[in-house]
Amino acid sequence: MAMRSLGHRKQILLFLLAVILPSLVLVVFTLRMMSQEQELAQKRMEDERRRAAREIGQHLLVRLEKIKLQETSAASDWNQLLPKRDYVNPEVVLVGLIDGRQLILPWEADLKKKEVQKLLNSSNFIRKIRSAENEEFAKKDFSRAVVLYRQSMETAREPVQRGYARLQLARALTKSHRKKEALAHYRDILTLPSSVADEYGIPLSLYAAGRLLEESTGHKEIIELIGTELEAKRWLSPAESYLLQDLVEKVIKTAPDASILEAAKDYHRMIQEHLRKLEQALELQGDFQSLALLTSQRNQTEKLEPVWVPYGNGTWLVSMAPPMAGSKSFLVVVQAQNILASLRSDSGFSETFPSEFFFVMGEGFEGESLGPNFRSIKITFKASQDETLSKQWSFQRFFYLLALLLVLSVTLFGAYLLWRDVRREVRMANMRSQFVSSVSHELKTPLTAIRMFAETLRLGRSKSKKTSEEYLDTIVNESQRLTRLLNNVLDFSKIEEGKRIYQPEPASLYEIIQASARAMEYPLNQHGFRLNVTAEEDLPDVRVDRDALEQAILNLLNNAMKYSGDSRDIELRLQRKDGHAVIQVIDQGVGIDPKEQKKIFEKFYRIPTRENERTAGTGLGLSLVSHIVRAHGGHIEVESVPGKGTTFSICLPLESEK
Ligand code: ADP
Repeated sequence: MAMRSLGHRKQILLFLLAVILPSLVLVVFTLRMMSQEQELAQKRMEDERRRAAREIGQHLLVRLEKIKLQETSAASDWNQLLPKRDYVNPEVVLVGLIDGRQLILPWEADLKKKEVQKLLNSSNFIRKIRSAENEEFAKKDFSRAVVLYRQSMETAREPVQRGYARLQLARALTKSHRKKEALAHYRDILTLPSSVADEYGIPLSLYAAGRLLEESTGHKEIIELIGTELEAKRWLSPAESYLLQDLVEKVIKTAPDASILEAAKDYHRMIQEHLRKLEQALELQGDFQSLALLTSQRNQTEKLEPVWVPYGNGTWLVSMAPPMAGSKSFLVVVQAQNILASLRSDSGFSETFPSEFFFVMGEGFEGESLGPNFRSIKITFKASQDETLSKQWSFQRFFYLLALLLVLSVTLFGAYLLWRDVRREVRMANMRSQFVSSVSHELKTPLTAIRMFAETLRLGRSKSKKTSEEYLDTIVNESQRLTRLLNNVLDFSKIEEGKRIYQPEPASLYEIIQASARAMEYPLNQHGFRLNVTAEEDLPDVRVDRDALEQAILNLLNNAMKYSGDSRDIELRLQRKDGHAVIQVIDQGVGIDPKEQKKIFEKFYRIPTRENERTAGTGLGLSLVSHIVRAHGGHIEVESVPGKGTTFSICLPLESEK
């Protein structure tokens, strides 16, 4: 027993080594491979994003640098163009001039102002104005002042001078209660072109507009004037902007009709917006040095790389155009949103970079760098890419796991088959060795009996003739038993070698079972069995190998005797049933467990019970019966209730009824 469990344990251990271990290794490797694959995919995606960000950066840089070049070369005639210029590119917000360390904003660079200043201060003109002012403010002689202003107006050579003098004249006229004349002059000034402006760049017409509004008149003309002024100039100076704001607010307060009110409100909004832009530009003027626009890293050729930085919460992108061959350097500002939008709408761009992304500007944001030319601008990609990746990944993982499951189940199934095979082999080996010992045992018993009785007879020790005959009967019977046993063994080995040949001839089954019953008569009687034979006599002859069939019936009868327990009744029946001749051997013995009923027909198989161990047997009997019956085209059935008894039925087809 100990040996067996040891062997069993060894078997389990071997099985573990051969199947479970490789399976575990497989699982571990697959899981590792999966995680590596995932990491790789993640890394690949990150690389991809980094590369895409760089490329987008290159596109953006090319676009921005082109704009910068166009704007700076268009600004060659700087002095003339600056204050009211329209930029070449719609995305441009501002082009500033850098003079030394100072950023000069568009309205500040208007050199015309100096000219105006010179004209207004020309000695001839200013002398007349001064004397008029003297009359007006010091002596309060307004009519004298009116005369003098009128004179200076008439002698003025330039429109600016004339307009300026006219403004003063109108004021003096108002003071001398000649309001009508004054308003007529203001109206005149209102029609002056916007280029007629004072030394602050403010058109004289705007001053006149202020006066007219104080008298609640000229709304329509004034609103038109404001409109043209707003449209004509890209940048208005802060002074002019505030003046315009003031005028518009006055118009709103005193507007005579709805359409003027609406227009005024629109312009008010525009001016507010402009003021905000103006503020940001003024801030930039203060900050631009600290933006370090020229301190970017230099490449090997010591050439300055252009740098673009966001400004004003990412609304603007700012860069500097370094001085080129004699010209000054410029500061170029573009509207960030517009440039990015136009970049996106580029044909080709959206095809190259189909994934959704957006720009983040300012310090401390996560994202991919656009390259060394962009400071504080990064790109983040929309999460959708992550989602597709994870979807793709879960799909992949599903396949990995499926493959793993498949391989594992195939392995385990193979292992199971192997296990079953090995077990069967082991069982067979056990049964074979058991068979050898049981055959020797079975041979020994009859041989001993034969020898004992034969020796007794030879020595003439038998008491009477009757006893001598009994001895002889026993010897004959035991040798018959030996013959049966040897026949079984011989037949079995023939079957195993495939050499068992049956010689069927038409024979009467009735006769065969009678012969079988006769053959068993002696041993049955010996053990006190009653054999009840019932047979239908009118059955047709059947083609059978007579000896083989008899052997089968004898095996069944023999078993019935061996496994009858205390019962002593055995029945042998021959009858016709469903086109078959059925030979039944019925006992009331120990019975067979339903689970065992199939196995008993296997070669060497003996039901492993205590009683069985005490009963002699080879485990060949039923396997031979089954073989013989099948060789005759029939089949064998077993019905049994444990403890109640067993019925074996040999069913042979009746040829005439086929
Ligand atoms: P054995 O030499 O052991 O009798 P068999 O092949 O004839 O070999 O039978 C196989 C097993 O079937 C027996 O060991 C026995 O346990 C069981 N068996 C056969 N016939 C009967 C029966 N009539 N009643 C109960 N058990 C039976």
